[in-house]
Amino acid sequence: RRKAAAAAPVTPGELADGTAIPLLANLGNPDAAAEAVDLGAEGVGLFRTEFLFLSADEAPTVDAQRASYEKLLAAFPGKKVVVRVLDAGADKPLKFLTDGDEQNPALGLRGLRSLRAHEQILRDQLTALAQADAATDADLWVMAPMVSNVEEAQYFTELAHEHGLKTAGVMVEVPAAALLADAILQHTDFGSIGTNDLVQYTMAADRLLGTVSSFQDPWHPAVLRLIAEVGAAGARHGKPVGICGQAAADPLLAVVLVGLGATTLSMSPRSLVDVRAELKRHTLDDARRIAQAALATTDAGAAREAARAAIS
Ligand code: PEP
Ligand code: MG
Repeated sequence: RRKAAAAAPVTPGELADGTAIPLLANLGNPDAAAEAVDLGAEGVGLFRTEFLFLSADEAPTVDAQRASYEKLLAAFPGKKVVVRVLDAGADKPLKFLTDGDEQNPALGLRGLRSLRAHEQILRDQLTALAQADAATDADLWVMAPMVSNVEEAQYFTELAHEHGLKTAGVMVEVPAAALLADAILQHTDFGSIGTNDLVQYTMAADRLLGTVSSFQDPWHPAVLRLIAEVGAAGARHGKPVGICGQAAADPLLAVVLVGLGATTLSMSPRSLVDVRAELKRHTLDDARRIAQAALATTDAGAAREAARAAIS
């Protein structure tokens, strides 16, 4: 009988010059944590809590939530775990939070907007997260989805702090939030760019609709410019700016994102290996130069080509 090969220790994400770029996992269930750790996840950059409650008829209790969050946090002792509060609506409807009568659910009462309309659900979730945090040793960060103005960022950050959660941030996945990143980041602890929705809203192309899939390209320079705004604002205010959309899983685009100012990258765990290898090939100066080459173009294909050419 052959012995299973011992897993090689996975090195942390870093550039060729030693700049650390922590590589984190996107997860939707605490049961997936062990596999993510095996694949070298240095923590969790996006835990999608709504996936736990997709079939629930009623809002989950504090106790039921606390058990799930404790399980997640216990899998990452000493590591950063970013938990997103319920992102209901559009592609992720929840029976207890989503109004099914909207004609354009992606533009509707979704994400933080629907949580504010049902504020007790948000308060219960923050209470459950604070209890799980107190019972475990992970470095818990919480964040709100679908923020589109400064007041929402301030509201969520204050509410999370009031509940005893130390680090509270917002997703930047609506162009308005990206353009106002300077002001938003002054009122919150960190930003996390959700490229899936940022592409959808920048390109006005439904992320679920195959007929417009050619518009859904995160290499589009309009999207890259918005990301550059957020990265620059993060650097100005000393606030971390992560990426948690699917774009971070494209190794070449990951280099561009770092060059635009991303300080961490989060992705589905299977993509970690290739992204880690690609980052190691470039210095931060290289990444910035490659990003500028992509930014200077006017369509997605040209941006990709420009990045490739800048590498060689
Ligand atoms: C995103 O929008 O890029 C994101 C990470 O969140 P979700 O895909 O869950 O909307
Ligand atoms: Mg999103």
